[in-house]
Amino acid sequence: MGADARPLRERAGGGRGAAWPWTSSHALCPPLPLLSFLFLFLAAPSVRAAGYETCPTVKPNMLNVHLVAHTHDDVGWLKTVDQYFYGIHNRIQHAGVQYILDSVISSLLAEPTRRFVYVEMAFFSRWWHQQTNATQDVVRDLVRQGRLEFANGGWVMNDEAATHYGAIIDQMTLGLRFLEDTFGNDGRPRVAWHIDPFGHSREQASLFAQMGFDGFFFGRLDYQDKLVRKMKLEMEQVWRASASLKPPTADLFTGVLPNMYNPPENLCWDVLCADKPIVDDRRSPEYNAKELVDYFLKLAKEQGQFYRTNHTVMTMGSDFQYENANMWFKNLDKLIQLVNAQQANGSRVNVLYSTPACYLWELNKANLTWSVKQDDFFPYADGPHMFWTGFFTSRPALKRYERLSYNFLQVCNQLEALAGPAANMGPYGAGDSAPLNEAMAVLQHHDAVSGTSKQHVANDYARQLAAGWEPCEVLLSNALARLSGSKEVFTFCHNLNTSLCPLSQTSKSFQVIVYNPLGRKVNWMVRLPVSKHVFLVKDPSGAVVPSDVVTMPSSNIQELLFSASVPALGFSIYSVTQVPGWSPRAHHPEPRFRKSLSWIKSSSYVKSSLHVKPSSRDLTIQNEYISARFDPDTGLLVEMKNLEQDLLLPVRQAFYWYNASTGNKLSSQASGAYIFRPNRQEPLFISHWAQTRLVKTALVQEVHQNFSAWCSQVVRLYPGQRHLELEWTVGPIPVGDGWGKEVISRFDTVLETKGLFFTDSNGREILERRRDYRPTWKLNQTEPVAGNYYPVNSRIYITDGNMQLTVLTDRSQGGSSVSDGSIELMVHRRLLRDDDRGVGEPLLETEVAGLWVRGRHLVLLDKARTAAIRHRLQAEKELLAPQLVLARGGGTPYHLEVAPRKQFTGLRRELPPNVHLLTLARWGREMLLLRLEHQFALGEDMDGNLSSPVTLDLRDLFSAFTITDLKETTLAANQLRARASRLQWTPSTGPTLKPSPSRLDPASITLKPMEIRTFLASVQWEEES
Ligand SMILES: [Zn+2]
Repeated sequence: MGADARPLRERAGGGRGAAWPWTSSHALCPPLPLLSFLFLFLAAPSVRAAGYETCPTVKPNMLNVHLVAHTHDDVGWLKTVDQYFYGIHNRIQHAGVQYILDSVISSLLAEPTRRFVYVEMAFFSRWWHQQTNATQDVVRDLVRQGRLEFANGGWVMNDEAATHYGAIIDQMTLGLRFLEDTFGNDGRPRVAWHIDPFGHSREQASLFAQMGFDGFFFGRLDYQDKLVRKMKLEMEQVWRASASLKPPTADLFTGVLPNMYNPPENLCWDVLCADKPIVDDRRSPEYNAKELVDYFLKLAKEQGQFYRTNHTVMTMGSDFQYENANMWFKNLDKLIQLVNAQQANGSRVNVLYSTPACYLWELNKANLTWSVKQDDFFPYADGPHMFWTGFFTSRPALKRYERLSYNFLQVCNQLEALAGPAANMGPYGAGDSAPLNEAMAVLQHHDAVSGTSKQHVANDYARQLAAGWEPCEVLLSNALARLSGSKEVFTFCHNLNTSLCPLSQTSKSFQVIVYNPLGRKVNWMVRLPVSKHVFLVKDPSGAVVPSDVVTMPSSNIQELLFSASVPALGFSIYSVTQVPGWSPRAHHPEPRFRKSLSWIKSSSYVKSSLHVKPSSRDLTIQNEYISARFDPDTGLLVEMKNLEQDLLLPVRQAFYWYNASTGNKLSSQASGAYIFRPNRQEPLFISHWAQTRLVKTALVQEVHQNFSAWCSQVVRLYPGQRHLELEWTVGPIPVGDGWGKEVISRFDTVLETKGLFFTDSNGREILERRRDYRPTWKLNQTEPVAGNYYPVNSRIYITDGNMQLTVLTDRSQGGSSVSDGSIELMVHRRLLRDDDRGVGEPLLETEVAGLWVRGRHLVLLDKARTAAIRHRLQAEKELLAPQLVLARGGGTPYHLEVAPRKQFTGLRRELPPNVHLLTLARWGREMLLLRLEHQFALGEDMDGNLSSPVTLDLRDLFSAFTITDLKETTLAANQLRARASRLQWTPSTGPTLKPSPSRLDPASITLKPMEIRTFLASVQWEEES
């Protein structure tokens, strides 16, 4: 996202008088006597915390302006990652990262006071590997001297709205590991730097704190919020980013940059800018040095008055700047020299080359007490009617592909860890998890999973994911052959969401390997497209299991269903055989038009057991836990029951669309890839009623609803399932009528919710949302719908204190509760206008045909007191769903003397339900990365003990390897926890005690609510036996 993308460019300072930040004229900022500065100086003579030793000297009795020379290099946006790196297609956007880094290094070497900050490791690591040893040595020196500083240091600067916390941690780990391996402690970023993401999540701040960052700076926040913060001198404060973790574990000092991330007006000296360079030759008719110096002094003082210390920061750079770094640095050199020369004339402004870390260090030394923030920075609006809440949903197919790839990467990582080196080199060739790990990291970029890139770039993101899957599939094959003892021809069916799988559809017999990435056993309903026959399914012990063949009403494809039981962190192999001589008795479910009823039963090899015949026109599906009733006239879901807890809730669910604004007299703002702005606040029905078909067998009950040619849904219940599954299919959204459309699924209930609803933050902790309200300022609401949308990564719920209705999503979406008792989720959007934030394309997703998208909402009805148990555990099962791998069977033994096995578990005992195995991945030759997470929040399980601390014995937990040594690290695994220390800040809520690292005992690892613990484990794999 770029500087050009903002129609409302804010001027630094504004019209207020030039009060000094520490003079008594500043009402909200008590004067700090000069003595206290002296005292501070004397008390800590040149004592520097680790990482800050190389910071420049400042002048304690002046206003110090920290110039941060930087470039913002999007890992894909208007151009692909490779086009940006090499500088291809400069007509789309002039940008070439390789030249930027070349140029910056030369400029840094030319003048020792110059400093530069770099952020995106996806680019830097690529450039690094192309350098000579001599250049690498020079760069190492620059890093050691603090002249080249890394901020953030993730593979990318990730989006904060559409990202899942697991993927954020993975991408940060990848980038920070490169820095640790390449530069050691010298290269470790002290500061998190999210200058461009479109709003900021609380979980992101919590993760940064747990990664060991000392502070966080960002650029974008709601325009009203920013105004209030400037007035209240709260541009910098402490963010308390977790309601569960004990402070200061998730406390993060957070600063709002004065001018987003751009240079002040008139002071942009890049080849991409048109501002005048400094002309300091008085004989020149173009002489402007005095004018620019006066302007700068005024600007610095104006800006300084909104911050509490005698330090202020200016971001000297922007998108893809510094390709000719000499232009920037030459002018900054002059600026510094000329401005500081004024000190001889009494000026109290000192300007210097600095970095985010060095600026932060001065703030820390100021030793102030800082106010505390506990909510988040969503949604982001950069003006009235301009809510950046559309990108929560933009490109829903890419968002799902990203989430599915997270699932697959964890499976790939786990099998690499469980099988050891045999996974990387085996009968199927070289298996490798690194390409998918890198592709997933790229996808976290704030123009990737956010859906805000150009179409050709989105296509390239998908290409990168697909390319990453391939070596992981080789890895899985090697690992499964090794662990099962049988070399099969393994097949991966990528199109099961559209019921396509050539092997299962053409074979008389095949095997289904179901791998479970969770730390607990799961039962999972396997669905595979098959030919028109009857099949016999056997479990790993050879026993026949119940199965069904169901004909899909919409496609006429037959699907085989059976429930697989899979042990923790392991697999079960099921065999499927066509039964000769048996022909299916499948009926095609008949359509149920309005006021008509037909009762369909599909074929079933094993006799179906239930089927209570309906007595009336009733249209209900039911299992032992849940029942769902549909209006026989409209075909809409109208009621849900939790039979176990004896709860009944009328719930009407239907699909609607908002008519996307193309601008009106209130504002010219149109809905686009970033912005959601409906033309009118009431959405329109896609259809008031649905044509329905009913499928009931022993293994599934489904109501198929057809709302229109481009909107349908299957509402589904499997036995043993405590939630209702809604599988929606939307698209291609027709736009032939000239209207962009934003499609929602809405649940309306009678729950009295008093304006409140709840959404997750990056799939983890829950935040309370209140309609037309912001916790830290009085909101002037300009968009009653769009201004109440929030990111939903995994769940949204409403409650009346007694009952809770929760909807789990399978990808990130925008969601809200626009009226009491209602939940809505935006599932798809297709727009005809660009929203003027730089992407320069309407979100059409293929110009003619459009895109159809399928996804699932899982609906849970529970008592509010116990709802967390269900939604936490079910969301975990959805995120890390079992991986299906098919094989024809009849493979050869992996080792001649060893009998193949049809079941395997990597754990000697299951993990307790409140423990999530977040990461199990190879880290080195004989080293693994292990993350264990308490997945419940404090007080969330009110009646049980799932919100209590839990203790594990790791010594013999894993069956595939033995842990010979265990070291605990910070969250991104780039620092030993025992040696890590962060700068301390004093929050206004009172001082916090520095946590004392507890002794690491592998026999007794305790996790407190919402705690993640990260370990590097030296291991020995079990001998192949
Ligand atoms: Zn950006």
